[in-house]
Amino acid sequence: MTLRTLESLGSLEGKRVIVRCDLNVPLKDGVITDDGRVRASLPTLKTLIEAGARVVVCSHLGRPDGAPDPKYSLAPVAKRLSELLEQPVAFASDTVGESARETVSALENGEVAVIENLRFNAGETAKDDATRQAFAGELAQLGDVLVSDGFGVVHRKQASVYDLAEILPSAAGLLIATELDVLDRLTENPERPYTVVLGGSKVSDKLGVISHLLPRVDRLLVGGGMLFTFLAAQGHAVASSLLEKDQLDTVRGYLAEAADRGVEIVLPTDVVVAASFAADADHETVAADAIEESSFGASGIGLDIGPDTAAAFADAIRSSKTVFWNGPMGVFEFPAFAAGTKAVAQALTEVDGLGVVGGGDSAAAVRQLGFDDDRFGHISTGGGASLEFLEGKKLPGLEVLGWA
Ligand code: ADP
Ligand code: MG
Repeated sequence: MTLRTLESLGSLEGKRVIVRCDLNVPLKDGVITDDGRVRASLPTLKTLIEAGARVVVCSHLGRPDGAPDPKYSLAPVAKRLSELLEQPVAFASDTVGESARETVSALENGEVAVIENLRFNAGETAKDDATRQAFAGELAQLGDVLVSDGFGVVHRKQASVYDLAEILPSAAGLLIATELDVLDRLTENPERPYTVVLGGSKVSDKLGVISHLLPRVDRLLVGGGMLFTFLAAQGHAVASSLLEKDQLDTVRGYLAEAADRGVEIVLPTDVVVAASFAADADHETVAADAIEESSFGASGIGLDIGPDTAAAFADAIRSSKTVFWNGPMGVFEFPAFAAGTKAVAQALTEVDGLGVVGGGDSAAAVRQLGFDDDRFGHISTGGGASLEFLEGKKLPGLEVLGWA
């Protein structure tokens, strides 16, 4: 079965349409540092506005503790949305309370409102079905139909993603449709060579995808925080770099399996090691098998791939027809350790084929480093969701929309 589309909802004129977006943007001192997810939500919202719907946008932001927390207010996001849509956007200061009810009932056809952070209510992420369903029931009062478009959360069984879609007539929005199109191209007969580049900090999260990808890809490039677990698995000392000791056996298993299958796992040959985890830390480039021999000894921390590695990764990427990249190659937030990420991003823009960036921080990294979105085949709004899709997992937020 395929996803239910917007058309399946019939005429939306005058209807209250709840749109579950993923507007979980990075904020620094209340200012949005990357509005990519707001922009990615625009096609669906504009379509609904043109159809004369009364649009009620909802989303989570960050990880508040199930209670209101001004630090995680969606107010700055509503403001940005209004600028991008070039029309007023009303804002409700609660999610399912008086403000939300009043704001929604004041909407005219073609108007838009944003309600406050869904995760200000414990019911949104509750493990207990009944608690979640009760919250979804309250949300359902605000709309006649649901358009689910928060691709970044479709792997989560949460009230607005899953339970609400069971209560109201529901369909997938245009962002989810686009994301799935691209992911299908990565899983069904990808053009070869097919290279996957993994980095970032959530090592154990990302190791899971490797076993599923090994039978499917030609090359796997490993950078970011997880590279140290790979180097350690090969017997190298990694000083004070990020290391998941409990994953060493798993990683050794992947290395053996890759050798069996003829898949190339490309590991760094050089690494940028810093004296401490700081933007202005002293640093030097050393061979990947000599990390503890840097001047910082056992306290050195690997914060980026080295220049030789960056060049080798760039070559491997440029000579591929299909590339999926998730996770920065280093701590790109510090300019001194952004070179590896920049080299990979640059190479991805030069792929003669499909080059996909997945992951919140990876997307933020390429924009922060000055690359325009349209230079990439696709920038996915969902890291975890893309990875789980590529792992072949069933995603509850898609299944509930008819996807199988
Ligand atoms: P994404 O959101 O794209 O899936 P992650 O959340 O997994 O990516 O990882 C992003 C983070 O990984 C960045 O904040 C970056 O600073 C961090 N990172 C990359 N390389 C290293 C490293 N060598 N040591 C520590 N953190 C790293
Ligand atoms: Mg991240």
